[in-house]
Amino acid sequence: MIVAKNAPRGRVFLVGAGPGDPDLLTVKALRILQNASIVAYDELVGPEIMDLIPEGVERIAVGRRKGTCPNAPSIHPAVLERALEGRDVVRLKGGDPMVFGRGAEEAEELTALAIPFEIVPGISAALGAASTSGIPLTHRDASPSVTFATAQLRHDREGDPLADLPRTGTLVLYMGLSTLAQTSERLVATGRAPSTPVAVVSRATLPDERVVTGTLATIAAEVARADVPTPALVVIGEVVDKRVVSVLPVPSLADAQSGGRALVVPRHRVRGALRVGRMRGR
Ligand code: SAH
Repeated sequence: MIVAKNAPRGRVFLVGAGPGDPDLLTVKALRILQNASIVAYDELVGPEIMDLIPEGVERIAVGRRKGTCPNAPSIHPAVLERALEGRDVVRLKGGDPMVFGRGAEEAEELTALAIPFEIVPGISAALGAASTSGIPLTHRDASPSVTFATAQLRHDREGDPLADLPRTGTLVLYMGLSTLAQTSERLVATGRAPSTPVAVVSRATLPDERVVTGTLATIAAEVARADVPTPALVVIGEVVDKRVVSVLPVPSLADAQSGGRALVVPRHRVRGALRVGRMRGR
């Protein structure tokens, strides 16, 4: 690809698409998508969100799967090519571009080619999963801190990505499902109790979201039995026991505006005598 050095560059928008539910896109992301002429997206961005992109917009699937050469550039050549031709490109990424999203690596490569970029945040999977599953990430009675971590290392890096993690507080593992058995064992070996509660939240914020719970000792077997699909997050810590579940179906926004709201009670109070009610005027 030969491009004149000072030819005008297009802009690249590195946009977070959120965890999956299209209603969780930011207003800014939606506005950018609706004005885009080229959208490059990865496999985490589902059809529910792609359907919001107007017809006629060029769509480029830039899925990167396991086994990609570690030294390969982060940004897809098709994106670079179009930006170097002077065209604006939206690079749509699952969750937030700066949380296990390679946003900074792509931005550095753009800068090296004098291509201007803007990074637009998205709701990261951990934040989406916490709200829809009802599992808080911090809680005054359970954990004052949360760590986002991955059990996966770049193929060319050595070492144990779990070795330096805090031994207390909430731990959220991205890309952790396939290695859950080894990870759980490793966390116990390095100081967490085998009875530590764990939840796996699969396809968070999507209509088929599922939550499987257990402990560090049992979660791998529970997940294998339940056969949960990816993408999935692993939430480890006492916060899992603070899960809250609405006692009523969550009303749509229109319902909520016209009347009562669902009453949210902690899960341990859902068992036993249950007072189901609607709260008005709160
Ligand atoms: N940038 C993204 C993370 C990309 S890494 C973000 O901020 O969310 C990909 C990992 O994110 C998956 O392996 C999974 O652990 C997690 N993930 C993404 N979407 C998810 C979803 N809807 N439900 C559960 N986990 C999800």
